[in-house]
Amino acid sequence: MKSLLEYLKEADQKKVAIGHFNISEIAALKAVFESARKLELPVLIGVSEGEREFIGVAQVAAWVSSLRNEYNYPIFLNADHTHSLEKVKEAAEAGFDEIIFDNSNLTLDENIKNTKEAVRLAKSINPNVIMEGETGFIGTSSEVMEKAPEGLQLTDPEDAKRFVQETGVEVLAPAVGNMHGLLKSMVTGDAKKHLQIDLIRRIKEETGRYMTLHGGSGTADEDFVAAIQAGMTIVHVSTELRVAWRKGLEKGLQEHPDEVAPYKILPSAVSMIGTVVENRLKLFNSI
Ligand SMILES: [Zn+2]
Repeated sequence: MKSLLEYLKEADQKKVAIGHFNISEIAALKAVFESARKLELPVLIGVSEGEREFIGVAQVAAWVSSLRNEYNYPIFLNADHTHSLEKVKEAAEAGFDEIIFDNSNLTLDENIKNTKEAVRLAKSINPNVIMEGETGFIGTSSEVMEKAPEGLQLTDPEDAKRFVQETGVEVLAPAVGNMHGLLKSMVTGDAKKHLQIDLIRRIKEETGRYMTLHGGSGTADEDFVAAIQAGMTIVHVSTELRVAWRKGLEKGLQEHPDEVAPYKILPSAVSMIGTVVENRLKLFNSI
């Protein structure tokens, strides 16, 4: 099977993006895997520090590798937004395919210094682990919010160039109008996120790195397509899946008011998450 790095190279050349979906439990993992398999596309499973703590670091690694091995399928695992060296070490030792080290809340100099150290540490444990770093600020919460978080800051292309050169990350997560989480108006109404496509193009030209679009939930379809054309190689979707999980769970409970067997209630959550994943993967791959 090809490595994640080879899939990134292929996606970059074909101007498509690999879908990255966060999970907190097994219904979402089932939904993501089934949708990716149906479309025969490589896929990334993401777990933030909070999600890792809930499932267990070794446990989520075992879930993903069991699917990869049994089905000989390109499903990969990313340690999303890892803030400390201790957690980098933990994920590298557990066999994660990618680690995102996120010190984007610090100054550029501190971010560079710490990210460089995280890359060195992770590569000393597993030379093949792919490292991603982040510049600019896009908020931290993958939830439904009343208003946008304070202090959002776009990535400066020159800073991004220095950041990737000095840290050695293979993948850059820039801030280009994207934002973690969803606004209430995006869940109850038609509001959409819009991206700065020219900025994406400039950062891609300056850095020459693979790039990840974080906080993809709620982005306008045409902005996704343009962002991928302009150089995004991975797209993260999390909050949309959480919203689908909750709606699916509520539907399952309503349809089976007296049921207590989780495996009879949860299929509607799997189905609703699966629909979101399938639609996003089709869009990211021009299918
Ligand atoms: Zn993110």
